[in-house]
Amino acid sequence: MKTALELYDPQIYELIRQEEVRQSGSIRLIPSENYVSKAVMTATGSCLTNKYSEGYPGRRYYEGQQVTDLVETIAINRAKDLFKADHANMQSYSGSVANLNAYYTLIKPGDTIMGMALADGGHLTHGSRGSMTSKIFRSVSYGVNQETGYIDYDYVRDLAKKEKPNLIISGATAYPRKIDFKIFGEIAKEVGAFHVSDIAHLSGLVVAGLHMSPVPYADIVSTTTHKTLRGPRGGMLLCRAEHQKALDRTIIPGQQGGPHMHTIAAVAVALAEANTPEFGAYAAQVIKNAARLGEKLKEYGFKLMTGGTDNHLLLIDLRGSGVTGKMLSKALDRARIVTNFNSVPGDVAPPTNPNGLRIGTPAMTTRGLKEEQMDEIASFIKRVADNVDNEGEIAKVSREVLLLTSQFPVPEHFIVPNQVKPPFVD
Ligand SMILES: *Cc1c(COP(=O)(O)O)cnc(C)c1O
Repeated sequence: MKTALELYDPQIYELIRQEEVRQSGSIRLIPSENYVSKAVMTATGSCLTNKYSEGYPGRRYYEGQQVTDLVETIAINRAKDLFKADHANMQSYSGSVANLNAYYTLIKPGDTIMGMALADGGHLTHGSRGSMTSKIFRSVSYGVNQETGYIDYDYVRDLAKKEKPNLIISGATAYPRKIDFKIFGEIAKEVGAFHVSDIAHLSGLVVAGLHMSPVPYADIVSTTTHKTLRGPRGGMLLCRAEHQKALDRTIIPGQQGGPHMHTIAAVAVALAEANTPEFGAYAAQVIKNAARLGEKLKEYGFKLMTGGTDNHLLLIDLRGSGVTGKMLSKALDRARIVTNFNSVPGDVAPPTNPNGLRIGTPAMTTRGLKEEQMDEIASFIKRVADNVDNEGEIAKVSREVLLLTSQFPVPEHFIVPNQVKPPFVD
């Protein structure tokens, strides 16, 4: 039987089908991407998208909130439990918006923020030149040690003492090592700054206990819900009790209108999934896979920033290799290996054609790939890098990618459905 979408909009239906084929027939190595479960997908595509729920549970501006109040309360409680936070706000539309929400809760326009430089792995919203965060606030940036690639905490402290920021941001979007949120918290305290920690990339590893949690050391923690955490696209904020009222007020009426309740419901589902041993095993494998992929790439002569990884991502330094990040990522895409070009610390090339390639393992780990397949992927990357202009060889790799991915179908469930007992019932 044809679905409604197929009947009424065959064009969009067909494009979505093609995207499904692309996602299942490619090796997806963009570290911020993943696959969600059928359960998360169902909640995202539910009737909750029809409802306006401005306000918070029990204090809404519109009627008809019998169900939405329960949904949002469950989401809040699951987030608080999982991250051990005093308060959670589930209404942020996305990771970028969540950062704006966090900043506006704590500081005023014209104040100084200090985040990681874009070129060194920070996010646009951490005060980079093209972002409104550098126009509303005075922005100063810390970076990594240009030789080692690691965050230099002494430098961060010295810069904070000199620049006296009102708010320090910890967290990154392209940093392959652990981040010491405790030190960031101490530095912020020393200079009288607030500390916002952005764990958009790391939140799945944090809930699995595989990365230090910033919750005890930050005034507000911001995250996306769709990266390693494996939920729908969205944002989420956690904070200490003292900031609860201000944070909630910043989001509505401060910066947003109606929350996306279908997304909040889907985040609740993802948080329940993340609260299982299966999720812990996935997160551990994400890290093992990234480490193995890094080792193999090094054997093939690739240079990695910091020499490797201890999280889910790798940053390949292509300087001196004769190919740029863009050339390689385009060639890999033709071979059905999907990555993104990225600046590397100290890169003099423009961000539109930089000398780095960023790859990560969350999505392919969700599909069940293990160390053995990482070896195969590393060899594919090597062959493409040696043949960026050789379409025959690229086509050969592409066929081998199809063969590999066909052995690891996109899973519909991350836990056995008939074993869904607590913690799936609140
Ligand atoms: C992905 C990311 C964001 C932005 O999230 P969006 O949902 O794309 O707006 C913010 N901060 C960091 C560190 C990120 O990696």
